[in-house]
Amino acid sequence: MNAAPWHRPALERLLARRPRMPHALLVSGRPGIGKVDFARSLAQSLLCESPIDRLACGQCPSCHWFGQSNHPDYREIVPEAAEEAEAEGADADAGKDAKKSLVIKIDQVRAIRDFVALTTHRAGHRAIVLHPAESLQPAAANALLKTLEEPPPATVIVLVADRPARLLPTIRSRCEAVVLRAPPRAEALAWLAASGAQDAESALALAGGAPLLAARLAQPEERDWRRKVVAELSRPDGAHPLSFAVGVDRALLERTIFVMQTWVHDLLRLKSAAEPRHHLESVAVLRAKARRARLERLLALDRELLEARRLASHPLNARLAAEHLMMAYNRATLA
Ligand SMILES: [Zn+2]
Repeated sequence: MNAAPWHRPALERLLARRPRMPHALLVSGRPGIGKVDFARSLAQSLLCESPIDRLACGQCPSCHWFGQSNHPDYREIVPEAAEEAEAEGADADAGKDAKKSLVIKIDQVRAIRDFVALTTHRAGHRAIVLHPAESLQPAAANALLKTLEEPPPATVIVLVADRPARLLPTIRSRCEAVVLRAPPRAEALAWLAASGAQDAESALALAGGAPLLAARLAQPEERDWRRKVVAELSRPDGAHPLSFAVGVDRALLERTIFVMQTWVHDLLRLKSAAEPRHHLESVAVLRAKARRARLERLLALDRELLEARRLASHPLNARLAAEHLMMAYNRATLA
């Protein structure tokens, strides 16, 4: 598990403190820049039996187990739904997926307490990565706080969060903060090109400069759906909410919301005499839409999209939600 190249200096600085590693870290930064890879890479390097320049060697028994996801001194705590999606790949059945928990429950945090009560198998460190930390249920957050208040020996707990402000202040104050950033644009583009991404420039613009998010947005199924949503948003006579929403499931709703949010942000930028930042291939359409759009309705739509994104991870009628958002878009742009 390798940290992104742009995060390697931060990783090395942290590992240089190996003998006195903080027992709890809070890794934060924008979505899609590689925070989870950083956390896993830190864990693997701490567990590695013969690190090279402080980083995991990738060869020893410990690294081998880590690569097979069955290291006895490592645990990763994620919501059940995320576990499932990772195991089944991108094609996870949305209906089945909806029944899985989207939060980290107290039982999962209690399991950490049992885990840290054991002696380590390899007589070294023990590492726990928990993400996204915002998905901790209140009871689970309180249980975690107890563990953080009485740090177990030789254990590093790494929390990962996009929005650390949403965590309990008491949890934040018990962790050392590690704030990660996106790489400069040129470095991100070179990395995307090396990983074979198509249309890297537009994907990176859409992702607001976050390379891992851009890599996902560059995938064919993402691009196909994005084209469909952009075409809908671009119609001169307004979107056709009913026909658009047919067949929209939870996964497609999340993609739709992302496209609409970035589109609305571009419209808001044009309204304040700034240049669009995300949909660079649709600038002419955006200008025409911005001219007719009403600022206060765009702002209301932006808030509505934010709320819809929060709800999109809950079971709900995706088709109705998509229809509703497209109607709100028409109200904002056909004034
Ligand atoms: Zn190793």
